Amino acid sequence: MAEIKTIGLLTSGGDAPGMNAAIRAVTRAAIFNGFKVKGIYRGYKGLVDDEIVDLQTQSVSGIMHHGGTILKTARCKEFMTVEGRQQAHENIKKHGIDALVVIGGDGSLSGARQFANEFDFPIVGIPGTIDNDLNGTDHTIGYDTALNTIMWCVDRIRDTASSHERLFIIEVMGRESGFLALNGAIASGAEAAIIPEMSTEVDQLSELIQSGFRKSKNSSIVLVAESPATGGAMGVAERIRKEFPQYNLRVRVTILGHLQRGGSPTAQDRILASRMGAAAIDALLEGQRNIMIGDDDEKIVYVPFSKAIRHGKEIDRDLLELLKKLSI
Ligand code: ADP
Repeated sequence: MAEIKTIGLLTSGGDAPGMNAAIRAVTRAAIFNGFKVKGIYRGYKGLVDDEIVDLQTQSVSGIMHHGGTILKTARCKEFMTVEGRQQAHENIKKHGIDALVVIGGDGSLSGARQFANEFDFPIVGIPGTIDNDLNGTDHTIGYDTALNTIMWCVDRIRDTASSHERLFIIEVMGRESGFLALNGAIASGAEAAIIPEMSTEVDQLSELIQSGFRKSKNSSIVLVAESPATGGAMGVAERIRKEFPQYNLRVRVTILGHLQRGGSPTAQDRILASRMGAAAIDALLEGQRNIMIGDDDEKIVYVPFSKAIRHGKEIDRDLLELLKKLSI
């Protein structure tokens, strides 16, 4: 394998709190080990459009407490085409980049895998997404902060829900995974979570309403993952009005939306991002490629891209039982 002297770094897909801490860690650990670092703006778009700059240790000063990403992020249609990736490869050669570190979610790592295979190019991925939906890692960067934001929001909504004796249906992110909804429900003391993982097994809404979940309460809160599989908060509220009018539930909907993505990262996300950023450089030094850095029981592991992007990361079903038990 050719010797690596210069490392390119980009953030791609949805932004997540902690991405800046990861940028800082990758840059500093790379320079510490004698590499040059090039920052690529706007994810794969910056590779295709040649928006590439040198990063020094001071380029990443004072950024770790900010949400978002100083390298910006974008979605890039051109990178989905062979021509677009060829253009990206030309720019990589032009800037003397010998390896890439890609910080992003499922889509970004799928793109990394495609590019790495096509051009036989070394890439290490870092899981940066609030959804926590990548396989092979207990946590992704940004998940803990988003969970805390959801808890903060639900605490406030609960004041109104209990004063007005209403049922609030609150939509959180997670198109294909219920990590935020389920753990957000437990952290905020919500009565239930409706998640995509369970949607093919049971009618979660019917089960919830027929369980008489409001017998001992005048107000309640249900978290719903934003997903075609759950129908989202609007879909759930509509079903309640149409299918269960006899319960006379006074339903209100709140969609947390982009509130969940921003904000200063929690200590846990900053530490995870710092460990993973430095581990990405260790991985390249060890000759690793086509892997994502994962966190398995507080230990750094290397996860092949093919495993990381495989859908269907398992939720902890004991947590569903716990939620039922605690919401009586
Ligand atoms: P996330 O990383 O947050 O899941 P996206 O799914 O939007 O975000 O993916 C980010 C970008 O990754 C896309 O805009 C595209 O440029 C690239 N990408 C995603 N999937 C592929 C693929 N199969 N092949 C090539 N590039 C891809």
